[in-house]
Amino acid sequence: MALMTPQEYIDSLRKLNTRIYMFGEKIENWVDHPMIRPSINCVAMTYAAAQDPQYADLMTVTSSLTGRKINRFTHLHQSTEDLMNKVKMQRLLGQKTASCFQRCVGMDAFNAVFSSTYEIDEKYGTHYHDNFKKFLTMVQDNDLTVDGAMTDPKGDRSKAPSQQADPDMYVHVVERREDGIVVCGAKCHQTGSINSHWHIFMPTISMGEADKDWAVSFACPTDAEGMYMIYGRQSCDTRKMEENGSIDVGNAKFGGQEALVVLDHVFIPNEYIFLNGEYEFAGMIVERFAGYHRQSYGGCKVGVGDTLIGATALAAEYNGVEKASAVKDKLIEMTHLNETLFCCGIACSAQGFKTKAGNYQIDLLLANVCKQNVTRFPYEIVRLAEDIAGGLVVTMPAQADFESDTVVGRNGETIGEICNKFFAAREGVKTEDRQRIMRFIENLCLGSAAVGYRTESMHGAGSPQAQRIMIARQGDIQGKKQLAKDIAGIQ
Ligand code: SF4
Ligand code: FE
Repeated sequence: MALMTPQEYIDSLRKLNTRIYMFGEKIENWVDHPMIRPSINCVAMTYAAAQDPQYADLMTVTSSLTGRKINRFTHLHQSTEDLMNKVKMQRLLGQKTASCFQRCVGMDAFNAVFSSTYEIDEKYGTHYHDNFKKFLTMVQDNDLTVDGAMTDPKGDRSKAPSQQADPDMYVHVVERREDGIVVCGAKCHQTGSINSHWHIFMPTISMGEADKDWAVSFACPTDAEGMYMIYGRQSCDTRKMEENGSIDVGNAKFGGQEALVVLDHVFIPNEYIFLNGEYEFAGMIVERFAGYHRQSYGGCKVGVGDTLIGATALAAEYNGVEKASAVKDKLIEMTHLNETLFCCGIACSAQGFKTKAGNYQIDLLLANVCKQNVTRFPYEIVRLAEDIAGGLVVTMPAQADFESDTVVGRNGETIGEICNKFFAAREGVKTEDRQRIMRFIENLCLGSAAVGYRTESMHGAGSPQAQRIMIARQGDIQGKKQLAKDIAGIQ
């Protein structure tokens, strides 16, 4: 099968029997649900861009497994150039959606599991790598979206998986059969889960021998028997349900998505198992996946940052302050911070290396530095955006007020007329455009897109302390001490 069009992707979701719950109820037509659809449009953009000739080189690539043309989101990186192109592709999609487009978690899982299964088989003579290659060939040939599911609920953080009062706090094997395994547990805040055709489950921490049953990785269709999702709320999400509220949403077309994914005795056939008890490899999968996803943030968040910088410059222009030196300088600072993140994404890619399995891995130290900066810089960019845009971002009346013909004034002025009079921007700028840009900024800084641009910048791909642990491990302090000793003449 060739690459899917965006419409074919959306239609393919309708064919799945995905079980979704929201506000305490099962959602039947979830593809057209106003709170979910923007997140589907976002993934659809990864298909649309691949169809666009101007992005063909970035979005499509030749499969290392089959030699056929595939979407880069299903690719195994074959060079440092591939790694850099991945980051550029993510920046492009961030620019096109101003949101999290979700499909990267699968791409990062493919590359981490591909190289890890090779090394597990090398040690144990298992067949996980072959299983994985067959699975990925099917994904590439059908141009599927796959969720990379890592984060377990974790319960008591001071305890290992096997020590938890409730064993389901980490995904685990509850039964081993001749033809496969049965698994239970859950994965939290799963990006794009509902919009994926398949899931790849991976462990979330390094494990010991006692945790054998929790050291498990496998692929499973999103509508597998026993699997369901509970939709994650976002700030201002019900605005998407309002009639004639598209301006108030801020970004009516695109959005992110996270869900709690529950596995209630799901059967996994042998051919989809990539790790099953080889506990000492759990940490390898975690480290590699996290490394790739920390690289990813040097692309996607930068693209979203581009849209916020653009919106802020427009807000300044509409207010007539774009020539003020303080405003110009703040826009320079926003750009500097944003491009610094891009530098990190490119640098960890340029310093990548070939794994034993043949695909390319990013430089772990630099990828962790990248993500550490992402836990900070978008917050400062948001601060500067709010500074320039002004309080109107959070105090503006509703779209319904701007459109209201209810009379309030002594001379018969309507609420709409009053709003349009007092919220008018500089001459030549439509009040509605000012409304739109303020709501767009609100959406990115405080609304539903803030999930992806702010809190996800903090916690997605691992919280700041997780990166500091990796930076400590990779930072080679001993080597640096020696450098100092050599020059200072210390024996
Ligand atoms: Fe992709 Fe970024 Fe969303 Fe992760 S947060 S899935 S890297 S867009
Ligand atoms: Fe993420």
